[in-house]
Amino acid sequence: MMLVFADHDRGTIDPLTFQALTFARNLDPDVQAVLVGGGGAGLDVTAAAAELAQYGAQIVHVVEIAGYSDYAPLAAARALVELLVSTGAKALVAASSARGNEVLAHVAAITDRPFTADCYSISIGDPHQIVRARWAGNLHEEVDVTADVVIATVFPHSTEATPAPAAGTLKEFTATVSEHDLAVRVINRIGASTGGVTLPEAKVIVSGGRGMGGPEGFTILEEIAGALGGTVGCTRVVTSAGWRPHAEQVGQTGTKVAPDLYLACGISGATQHLAGCKNSKTLIAINTDADATIMNHADYIIVGDVNQILPLVLNEIQASKS
Ligand SMILES: Cc1cc2nc3c(=O)[nH]c(=O)nc-3n(C[C@H](O)[C@H](O)[C@H](O)COP(=O)(O)OP(=O)(O)OC[C@H]3O[C@@H](n4cnc5c(N)ncnc54)[C@H](O)[C@@H]3O)c2cc1C
Repeated sequence: MMLVFADHDRGTIDPLTFQALTFARNLDPDVQAVLVGGGGAGLDVTAAAAELAQYGAQIVHVVEIAGYSDYAPLAAARALVELLVSTGAKALVAASSARGNEVLAHVAAITDRPFTADCYSISIGDPHQIVRARWAGNLHEEVDVTADVVIATVFPHSTEATPAPAAGTLKEFTATVSEHDLAVRVINRIGASTGGVTLPEAKVIVSGGRGMGGPEGFTILEEIAGALGGTVGCTRVVTSAGWRPHAEQVGQTGTKVAPDLYLACGISGATQHLAGCKNSKTLIAINTDADATIMNHADYIIVGDVNQILPLVLNEIQASKS
């Protein structure tokens, strides 16, 4: 049986979790999911379990931990360690998200087992043969892992989430968690989320780099994203300069995305940025430099100044809608 840690943010399940469920199901159809931090963490447990069931979770274990707030990695790991014992699962899988990697690293450390992050494929055996991403997916590493239980995260967008409705039977699980396990937990969030579509789920991402010239340059990107029902992304130069929040950063140290359309404006196409957007179905780049690296990776290129091109793009979108 495969156990999948369901990553959620205050009750909203990270869509990468559905990829992790699909990945686990491909190894063994007997898949169970774990939701840590029930109603207290803002979860509508029934609705969340129904979503997980859509992607093959036969059973959904709900672990309610007093004082968990909405995220406490070590406490979540303690619960998973106990569930591994009680269910006898042969693998623990999660999305390779910040939370997925953090929690599973704790599980591996507690149980003294190896942890394989960013996997593309796993062939269960003795040893387990695993292919995983290194250098943000620029290198594929083949590793042989010997462990009684596989602990692994799934490289974002390497597996397409495909529904396979299952029972999703709810089961409550009580874990022994100490105060020490709750020492690291979310107690406050600074900076409101926009409330709009998030980067991982966006079908359209309008992304800006240093070429946007400053924070004010992003106003038109917001307008275009709004007109297309998408969201804004950016490069690390932009977040480092404080023009946009880190939550919008795409790349190796940001979010890895796979939208239908990625519009890269004033972005050079550094390896670390491409690592986050190379799975986009269509990539359009606007850059004054025809030789910028991103131009070699884009499906369509526009050589020109964003200050001249983007107003025309916005006008065209608005005209086509009216
Ligand atoms: C360990 C590590 C991790 C990193 N992680 C990330 C990451 O997750 N994400 C990320 O993005 N970067 C990351 N970086 C940084 C990365 O190496 C690049 O520095 C960064 O992506 C460059 O950002 P940029 O394209 O905005 O800026 P630049 O490289 O400066 O490119 C700006 C581009 O804008 C064009 N331009 C300028 N003016 C205009 C105009 N008016 N109209 C049109 N085009 C114009 C220029 O021709 C140029 O191509 C990382 C680096 C390291 C070392």
